[in-house]
Amino acid sequence: MEIKADVCNGCGQCIIICPVKAIKMVGKKAVIDEEFCVECSVCYRNANCPVNAIRMKKLNWPRKLRIPFSNVTTTHKITGVAGRGTEEMKTNDVTNRYKSGEFGVSIELGRPGVGTKLRNIELFTTKFAEIGVIYEDKSPVTALIVDDRGHINEEIKDERVLSAIIEFKIPTEKLPRILEVVREVEDEIDTVFSVGIVSRIKENNTDEVINLLSDLGFEVRPNAKINIGLGRP
Ligand code: SF4
Ligand code: SF4
Repeated sequence: MEIKADVCNGCGQCIIICPVKAIKMVGKKAVIDEEFCVECSVCYRNANCPVNAIRMKKLNWPRKLRIPFSNVTTTHKITGVAGRGTEEMKTNDVTNRYKSGEFGVSIELGRPGVGTKLRNIELFTTKFAEIGVIYEDKSPVTALIVDDRGHINEEIKDERVLSAIIEFKIPTEKLPRILEVVREVEDEIDTVFSVGIVSRIKENNTDEVINLLSDLGFEVRPNAKINIGLGRP
């Protein structure tokens, strides 16, 4: 993204709308900090710039990788997935991705207002490689992992994005080790992250994850979100 300095009138509308505060007023002109801009295009789409000074510019590799992890209007080219994670984390009732005896796990790095560098992904994935997890093929993050030791491409590590979601499934007995890794990584990581766990309700209406998390010392405050599965046949 770029702002044409010779056109900008300094009204400030784009500054308040940028989700990562990457636009500053310098003199009487708005200026984008290239390091912090995640290429979400919110300023371009929503600032209503009165003089049309905000322009999309052609991005080269690896900077253009910021777009699918930040711009909600784009679709990831490799996975065909729109947005930063796959739908199945919310709609297992429709797709049945996570079977009995399995947990689905998501780790979302960064949020609007904070963002994340892609290098934070590797802090988790190199440790998960030792445990053995099954990554979701259609997750945009999975496409970044280049070997079975969980590394990501060196040249993309400093790219900054709005958020990235690691998605995988595991046999239920591996969850304690996964959560140990979360505890190990939390001191190294330089952004916010949240962990989601998908578990099936058993036929006797019990849920095995809540007691397990409590036993491991996590405070569990379940929230309900009901997807009634009308989206697919
Ligand atoms: S909205 Fe347009 S005119 Fe106003 S500060 Fe931003 S770029 Fe400049
Ligand atoms: S593209 Fe997004 S991150 Fe970059 S300056 Fe515009 S609103 Fe901010």
